[in-house]
This record gives sequence, structure tokens and C-alpha cells, in this order.
Amino acid sequence: MQLKITQETPPAGFERLLFVEEPDSGLQAFICVHSTVLGPAAGGCRMWKYGSLDQARTDVLRLASGMTSKNAMAGLGLGGGKSVIVGDAKTDKSEALFRAFGQAVESLKGTYYTAEDVGISPEDMAMVAAETDYAVGLECGQHGSGDPSPFTAEGVFQCLKVGAENVFATSDFTGRRVLVQGLGHVGMSLAEKLHEAGAQLIVADINEAALKRAAKDLGAEVCAVDAVFDAQMDIFAPCALGGVLTEESAARLKAKLVCGAANNQLATPGVAETLRARDIRYLPDYVVNAGGIISVASEIHKTGEDYRDDRLNLLAGRIREILDLSDQSGKTTTRVADELVAKIIADARSLQKGAA
Ligand code: NAD
Repeated sequence: MQLKITQETPPAGFERLLFVEEPDSGLQAFICVHSTVLGPAAGGCRMWKYGSLDQARTDVLRLASGMTSKNAMAGLGLGGGKSVIVGDAKTDKSEALFRAFGQAVESLKGTYYTAEDVGISPEDMAMVAAETDYAVGLECGQHGSGDPSPFTAEGVFQCLKVGAENVFATSDFTGRRVLVQGLGHVGMSLAEKLHEAGAQLIVADINEAALKRAAKDLGAEVCAVDAVFDAQMDIFAPCALGGVLTEESAARLKAKLVCGAANNQLATPGVAETLRARDIRYLPDYVVNAGGIISVASEIHKTGEDYRDDRLNLLAGRIREILDLSDQSGKTTTRVADELVAKIIADARSLQKGAA
């Protein structure tokens, strides 16, 4: 193994950026530690066929700073970080590649914990864990937390109830038209919860089998993927890709409430203003989709189900606080959430300075 780790100079506001290469396995990866002010950085590893190393670097920076916000709002005592492996998750995986990546994670000596993200399975993470104590989201072991998706779905569902109460003056979903975009690990689980709660589901996915299952088992109406923003709905739950809410789609959206699992739903920050101007309530993605990292945090901190469930329950309270502050101030929910994150980090910094 010829592991080469290059320390790159990160942009202002970021703590560390590593470029990792191992020619025998073909590994090319970035690991970014955005902030350790609140604790060791934690955030998943994504495997993606990036068009260039620059694209991968841009993605890891964006995702790592998003994890700082997510972990801060969920009260996990963790900072933000992320890693990306450049490659095709269908064809480029090998034990040697994941072990080399594990050694790179180990070199950070616990300032960064990695876990599964898009393109990475618990089996892959087990190979990473053969080389480092700082790989989590494992299926086995005393504190192994396994697939985080059911907890992400539960957190989104709890937040949806608070959002519905705010917008429709009731958290009763009976007959409420909810469009779930993306019926993957999180979206299908969320659709099941909404169905049980009496919602009328509309579903969109590129996966025919998932659509058939939702139609048959959940009585869902199928919507073409390119007709989502023309569909009549009360609630939009984006659970597929990031960047789905652009100025154009936000201007067409029929929903009164947006709450879903996808990361980075707003293509640009200004979309939050467009939604607010149209009286559409947007629940910030990094707050509502924290259930997965909460589950992973229970493994990092070696705590049990009570820790996980308590923090999952706190998410709804956070959303209530954000909606109340937004109602009082007229600020968008994203601005309110970003200001809360900045305060949590500033408070922690001044406590640390006081203690030094
Ligand atoms: P997944 O890959 O299991 O599911 C994604 C689904 O979206 C798939 O069914 C896919 O076919 C579908 N899809 C792809 N393109 C689409 C399109 N154009 N229109 C409609 N559907 C499309 O992913 P997941 O784990 O369910 O995660 C969903 C989203 O939530 C992702 O953005 C992910 O980053 C985010 N997220 C997931 C977790 C988690 O615990 N899994 C945690 C936080 C955030």
C-alpha cells in the first residue's frame, strides 16, 4: 500500500482538508474537517463519480460545513466533517480501497468520525473499520447503530407534524395530500408513516419497483418525476436529490409546507425568500433530517437507545422554536436556523476561551 496524504490549505473558516491517494487500489478521496468547536467532527463518506477532483473538493467542503450545522442543532457534542471518495460505487469498490481510506481516517486520530453516506454500505464501512476506530454506522459491535435511515424518516415525520400544526392548525394528516419525492431508504419509510397517519400520498421516483410498491401497499398516486411541481398537494417532502427547489420550481410549487430528508434542498439561499413570499413554510433540511446522525452519534458516544430517542424527540422542539422565531421576526426559517447555529458555536467558543 502506498498511501499518500496531502494537507491542502482549506478555505477560511475550515479547519482541515486532506487529499488522499493510494495508486494500487485507485483511491482518490478528500476528507474535510470543518469544525471541532463542539466536539470531534462527524459526517458520512460519499462515493460518487465526480467529473473532476475540483468538483469532489467543492462537494466535500459544502457537505462538511453542513454537518457542523446539523450536529450543532441536534445537540450531539460533535463538530462537522465529511469525506468523499472519487469513483463509481457500482464498479470501483475493493477491500484495498476501503482499507486505505480507513488508514487515512485513522491518521486524523479521532478528530473525524466517518460513516455511510450516498454510495457507501455498512459492509464497506466494516472494511474501513478494520483500519480505524473512527468508522461508525456499523451493523455489529456492542454499540453498532446500523442503518440510520429509519431514524432519519422518524425525525422528518415528527417535524412534519409540527409543521402541519403551524400551517394547517392541526397535525392530523387525514386526507392531507403529501407528495414524497424519492422512495429510497428514507422516503419509503416516511411514506409508510404518512400512510398510517391517514395522508393521501403522491409519489415520484425513477425506480418503477418502488412506485409499484407504494401504489399497491400505500394506495399512492404516481406522479411523473418531471410533473412534481405541477401536482396539487398540501405538503412537499423531498427525499431524493439536493437542489430541487430552484427559483423556478419554488415559484410553481403548489404545497403550503416543505419538509423532507434530502440534503441541501434549496438550490440557492435566495429560494428561502421566494418560498416565504409565497407563504410556503420551509422546514430547514439540516434540522429535520438529523435523525440519521443522531443514531450514529449514539455509536460514537457509546450510548444506548435512550440517548438516540431523547435527541430524536428534541428535533420537533427545535423546529417549533424556529417556526416561532420566524413568525415573530419575519425572517426566513433558514436564516433563523443559521443564526441559532452561529450562536451555539459562538457560545461554545467563548466557554472554551474562558476555560483556557
Ligand atoms: P436512497 O438512495 O435510498 O433513495 C433516493 C431515492 O431517490 C431512490 O429511490 C431514487 O430512485 C430516487 N430518485 C433519484 N432521482 C430521482 C428523481 N429525479 N426524482 C425522484 N426520485 C429520484 O437515499 P436515502 O438514503 O433514502 O436518502 C434520501 C435523501 O436524504 C438523500 O438526499 C440523502 O442525502 C438524504 N439523507 C439521508 C439520510 C439517511 O439516513 N439515509 C440522512 C440525512 C439525509
